[in-house]
Amino acid sequence: MPQVFFENERCKGCELCVTVCPKKIIALSAGEINSFGFHPAVLTDGTKCTGCGFCFLVCPDLAVTVVREEGGNGESTDEGE
Ligand code: SF4
Ligand code: SF4
Repeated sequence: MPQVFFENERCKGCELCVTVCPKKIIALSAGEINSFGFHPAVLTDGTKCTGCGFCFLVCPDLAVTVVREEGGNGESTDEGE
């Protein structure tokens, strides 16, 4: 299953990732506030994430990391020898 991580201290709460997520599973955290006074983005239901990476691509502050499993069985593929 893909995993999405938000770096709270980089997030400025612009909601671009909230808007772009096709699964609508990103929201601004109502209860959290970072040291700049912004409510950071959080995942509301990680089980629905497709790993599309749109949230990563749209974030202007590099606050999002998307980890996708390549190959589906945890194997790492090495293109070389
Ligand atoms: S990777 Fe795609 S589906 Fe998952 S949280 Fe980001 S935008 Fe939404
Ligand atoms: S796009 Fe980036 S800065 Fe904007 S709310 Fe999402 S994680 Fe925060």
